[in-house]
Amino acid sequence: MDINTILTHHGEEREKYFNAIAPPIIQTSNFAFDSWADMQTAFQDELGNHLYTRGNNPTTAILRKKLAALEGTEDALVFGSGAAAIAAAIIANVEAGDHIVCIRNPYGWTKSVLEKFLGRFHVTHTFVDGTDIENIEAAIQANTRLLFLESPNSATFELQDLQACAALARHHGIITAIDNSYCTPLYQQPAKLGIDIVLHSGSKYISGHSDVVVGVCCASKEMIQKIFSMEYMALGATLAPHDAAMVIRGLRTLPIRLQHIQETTAVVIDFLKGHEKVERVIYPFDKDFPQHELAQQQMSGGTGLFSILLKTEDLEGVKRFQAALERFLLAVSWGGYESLVLPFGIFTEVSKESKSGAPWNLVRLSIGLESADYLIADLKKGLEAM
Ligand SMILES: *Cc1c(COP(=O)(O)O)cnc(C)c1O
Repeated sequence: MDINTILTHHGEEREKYFNAIAPPIIQTSNFAFDSWADMQTAFQDELGNHLYTRGNNPTTAILRKKLAALEGTEDALVFGSGAAAIAAAIIANVEAGDHIVCIRNPYGWTKSVLEKFLGRFHVTHTFVDGTDIENIEAAIQANTRLLFLESPNSATFELQDLQACAALARHHGIITAIDNSYCTPLYQQPAKLGIDIVLHSGSKYISGHSDVVVGVCCASKEMIQKIFSMEYMALGATLAPHDAAMVIRGLRTLPIRLQHIQETTAVVIDFLKGHEKVERVIYPFDKDFPQHELAQQQMSGGTGLFSILLKTEDLEGVKRFQAALERFLLAVSWGGYESLVLPFGIFTEVSKESKSGAPWNLVRLSIGLESADYLIADLKKGLEAM
């Protein structure tokens, strides 16, 4: 389906609601039935009927249809957070005694689900350097059920060869899942490369305005039904109808936001790469990135999230750099309209060991919708102050 159709019309049934252009926010917890028989039918297929908003809601359903179409999967679920979507998808596919292969340094809460949560239920895991498929193959055991990928990750941006991973997993009867938050479905469609479950934190580019926390899970009808009928319903991390409407609104402008951000990012990176106080820029679409060729093969664009290594003596230099910035806000998350800075040295100081394994002088930048000149002027100040 054409992306214009998906974003403007798909899933919307305007004739059902007075031909309103914007979809109504069906702010209800539950739905009434005309008859005993109708209610019984709904109970037999809660995903396919409107019964209770923890399961299904008409506003949320519009968003689900658009996201499934964008990823090229049969169906999708939306959750109250990206972390909830990831946890539900993982938990749904393992039992006690199973093993998971996961790329090293995934998103922090993904790591916690494997290490701390599933560890309590006798599900084991191996973290591997996923830049080489041989490491993944070597980690597969007889009881491996799930291969969890994140390509690129959101701090150091290592990629995995998705087509090769999907083929390897299929050969061993292993389910594949990927955190695709970085690329959005616009710049990478893992299902088309054979990956079974595609997950997103929609709190980033998909909603795009730093005002909603939302998770996305795209997969086959069968897989979505499986996750829905247990983890989705039982853990109950539902997206509220009002938030679903906000995400639908954000989605409408995803292509133009990403295009603008990608162009601005290229100019900002050019400036940083030429600067004597920047040791290295880490960005999958930069020609000096070690996996640049793979990035170009399986991604159709770079976004506005990248890291730099600062050339400074110690953490005090990184602090001076950050403190001098006025236009880059100091914050977690990324993918909004506003530019952000996150020095990973903050984590090193708080917990002694960096949760992400990133070096102390790594600083992550998220480029927003501001112009390149405006942002470069701020970075110049930061680098001078350093
Ligand atoms: C933010 C993020 C998540 C978690 O999503 P929430 O919506 O914050 O729960 C997962 N993966 C990546 C790569 C993220 O950046």
